[in-house]
Amino acid sequence: MQVLKFGGTSVNDARAIGQVVAIVADQAARDRNLVVVTSAMRGVTDLLINSATAAAAGDRQKYRDARLTLTGRHRDAIEALVHDLDDLQQLQVESDERVREFERLCMAVGILGELTDRGLAVVSGLGERMMAPVLAAAIRARGLKAEFVDAGELIVTDDNHASAAPDMEATRAATRARLLPLLQEGIVPVVTGFVAATPDGVPTVLGRGGSDYSAAILGAALDAGEIQIWTDVDGVLTADPRIVPQARPLPELTYSEAAELAYYGAKVLHPKTMLPAIDRGIPISVRNTFNPAFPGTLVVAKSSNGGTVKALTVIRGLALITVAGRGMMGVPGIAARTFAAVARKGANVLMISQASSEQSICFVVPEADARGVKAALEEGFADEIKKRLIDGVALEPDIVIVAVVGEGMRGTPGIAARLFGALGEHQINVIAVAQGSSEANLSLALAATDADAAVRYLHDAFELAAPQSREERP
Ligand code: ADP
Ligand code: ASP
Ligand code: MG
Repeated sequence: MQVLKFGGTSVNDARAIGQVVAIVADQAARDRNLVVVTSAMRGVTDLLINSATAAAAGDRQKYRDARLTLTGRHRDAIEALVHDLDDLQQLQVESDERVREFERLCMAVGILGELTDRGLAVVSGLGERMMAPVLAAAIRARGLKAEFVDAGELIVTDDNHASAAPDMEATRAATRARLLPLLQEGIVPVVTGFVAATPDGVPTVLGRGGSDYSAAILGAALDAGEIQIWTDVDGVLTADPRIVPQARPLPELTYSEAAELAYYGAKVLHPKTMLPAIDRGIPISVRNTFNPAFPGTLVVAKSSNGGTVKALTVIRGLALITVAGRGMMGVPGIAARTFAAVARKGANVLMISQASSEQSICFVVPEADARGVKAALEEGFADEIKKRLIDGVALEPDIVIVAVVGEGMRGTPGIAARLFGALGEHQINVIAVAQGSSEANLSLALAATDADAAVRYLHDAFELAAPQSREERP
């Protein structure tokens, strides 16, 4: 059994959906049990969220305009792909109903003047709920049996509505009960990505870009043989192709390498996608919908081909916070108190570095959280600051992290020398460095203005554009 997930560009319009249907038909012809997971059309989730946010701020025009765009884009796809009259009529009715639901939600948000996470989850999931029935009908139009399934019936989550966490046990039971009978009848379930529900059936979503995660959750629940992420590039590349045009697709990555890349900003996979796959040892392949003959990237537990540095990523919009002072030396508990204050603010720490003299701790958090964290630290260490044991808490904005990823770096000497050499040669200042104990990742904090240049220099320095000396997958 295979789970095939198609991203927003893959279902952007009738032409792209035609490609998707061809891929599904090709795999079905090989006698496989297939489960299809789909995102919303490209840009639709943004449109939904922006319209509802504007409505909450009193702007009612945005959602009225969005309504026309949503209706138009889905109608065009439906009319081009679906020929069965009953199907066609049914789809138009359902699609119009979703758009009316969107309008009613935005109206309510406008009256209340606020958009709660619960409301946001309902609005932002409408794009997938509009797309999946269209894709199911398009697959039926190709002569296969297919049925739309709402993932709210399958994936059971907590009530953190906008970025919910799945209960894997409950999800496994619900998914198997609903999908296995369909599969036994040779029906391809076409499931909404991104969306889920609490045990009481209240809609939730898995966080932006979460359809990849949906596919992995369903793959694990069904003990799938493979989770296929179909997107608009030839796999996971050595760097973001928008920064490095010469970036090259990687034939193979380990789960940890893929997770590090995703966590540090490679948008091609949602960072949590690897978790369900690791638990059950299910390979993830990343493939190009518009170049289906290309093997893409295979993500597995152990990589057969070495390589040292495999890829680079950059994560933006960060700030560096430093707690420093001579009085910190040898005082136990400073780090614990520092990160307890950060946790109270709910901020996500992306990188930590401490000098061995223990005179300073610095760490990187999203820019949006930085001021709150600084204030919490100043309050928490008020006494030490007054006694001058701690100099104070410094905040440096406009920081990025460039992450250098590859399990082969472990035990390979000279990586750091090459890295600092390349950056030094081009006068790029490294503000802080951290290496995880897994050694699959080396993170550098840099000024935001240096980010793209640094990625390009490092891509050259580690010769990532040249085909690496290892066998390509057949
Ligand atoms: P989908 O809609 O299919 O989920 P996304 O836009 O979420 O697609 O992810 C694919 C995009 O991720 C690519 O078009 C590319 O611009 C971007 N990207 C960033 N870093 C990488 C990388 N290292 N490898 C591949 N793609 C990357
Ligand atoms: N449509 C959702 C988003 O844009 C989920 C996804 O595409 O993976 O975030
Ligand atoms: Mg995506």
